[in-house]
Amino acid sequence: MENVRDRKNESVSCGQDDGILARSMESADWMEQVRNLNTEHVLKTGKVRTYRLDVFGCQMNERDAETIAGMLTNMGYERVSPDQPADIIVFVTCCVRENAEERIYSHIGALSHECLKNGSFIVASGCMMQQPHVTEKIKKSFRHVKVVFGTHNIHEFPRLLCQYLTSGKRVLEVWEKEGRIIEDMPIKRRCRHKAWVNIVFGCNNFCAYCIVPYVRGRERSRKKEDVLAEIRALAADGCREVTLLGQNVNSYGNDLGVKDLFARLLYDIEEIDGIDRVRFTTSHPKDLSDSLIRAMKECKKVCEHLHLPFQAGSNRVLERMNRKYTREHYLDLVDRIRDAVPDIALTTDIIVGFPGETEEDFEDTLDLVRRVRFDSAFTFIYSPRKGTLAEKWEQTAPHEVISRRFKRLVEVQTEIATQLASKYEGKTVEVLVDGPSKTNPDMQSGRTRTGKLVNFRAEGDLTGQMLDVKIIRAGAFWLEGREVKRRG
Ligand code: SF4
Repeated sequence: MENVRDRKNESVSCGQDDGILARSMESADWMEQVRNLNTEHVLKTGKVRTYRLDVFGCQMNERDAETIAGMLTNMGYERVSPDQPADIIVFVTCCVRENAEERIYSHIGALSHECLKNGSFIVASGCMMQQPHVTEKIKKSFRHVKVVFGTHNIHEFPRLLCQYLTSGKRVLEVWEKEGRIIEDMPIKRRCRHKAWVNIVFGCNNFCAYCIVPYVRGRERSRKKEDVLAEIRALAADGCREVTLLGQNVNSYGNDLGVKDLFARLLYDIEEIDGIDRVRFTTSHPKDLSDSLIRAMKECKKVCEHLHLPFQAGSNRVLERMNRKYTREHYLDLVDRIRDAVPDIALTTDIIVGFPGETEEDFEDTLDLVRRVRFDSAFTFIYSPRKGTLAEKWEQTAPHEVISRRFKRLVEVQTEIATQLASKYEGKTVEVLVDGPSKTNPDMQSGRTRTGKLVNFRAEGDLTGQMLDVKIIRAGAFWLEGREVKRRG
């Protein structure tokens, strides 16, 4: 029998009133049961069971993947690289754009032969699974997907996995609504010197194009003490840079009834020995307060980089998008931020071709890009998402027109990014080394405080070290330099 919960009853039957401790202890019990099964398997076969992860989408998903990896490690599984066969293949899915969804279906479909041949199976999780039409499709069309859970019941993964392993029957459970925040889940982080730290989950903003509030639920902030305890533990373990995560970090604490909690959190992190750099993402322009700008100026560990999505430069489009700010507000905000932190690098997200966007609206977007001069921008062509406000809004511009606008935007932004990057040439910058470059194994790569990617030649493994690097060449998306001094 397949275990697909009636979605209507999900929030009732999932025990939303259980205590946090009770639920995390429950996860620990299920993990122990799976661990015992895996120990038996090792004794019988001499082989350790393995997993691999296929992660799509944003940093939230990357961070969720670290929790899933933590649980699997705790349960006795060993991670293998993406090109190796594994007993479990975990997908952390994204539904923010249509092409990501299509890619995920095609990746899952392509694995049916491998699963059949090796006796392995797929676990599907993440934002896509929060949508009923997706779980229905998975259930009907992808028999090699044996376990499904969503963003709200990630902590239930050990129970669902245990149920599948002991019964052999597929287990598909997705909570319709978010529960309370579960602390103390195991985490296996992608690296030691840098870490993502969740501070707020979900979003209350309902931008007309965005699926996130429907699949990640309403805003829930972690307690400041819990965030600080996690960062202190990270620092004790050698972490030097933390990135605070939330769909809208600027509203951190609003649901706890505490004003300006995000700014206060930054001041508290400033006091933690061992942490050298603090970043955060994402900031909503309507909620970026003066106290936060002051904290960015006064906290020396807060990096000179701000990702501030503006999405569209026309007030008419911004209103239709339900963004709740104007281009004038955005430009004023940029001025105030630059007054406080003059060398700050600004990056942004821009959507082209939102339903109803006219040539004049698009010119407003280009104008804003030229005025602000962003160091880089994530540019997207609008793609309607099922269940959002804008889903059924008519597209007024033909596809060729939107493509042409998109191309122009990319050209303008690339030119600006190249000009801004050229200012680094000849300068010496602080770089936190991430390890060998992904594109050239003879080079090391790392990031400046402003978030720029730097490649440079160096002997040995310098991962996690802070260096001074002199920039000798600059492109729109990367800098090339040579090491001049090791800071430690
Ligand atoms: S602020 Fe808007 S774009 Fe960002 S996650 Fe929330 S609804 Fe989506």
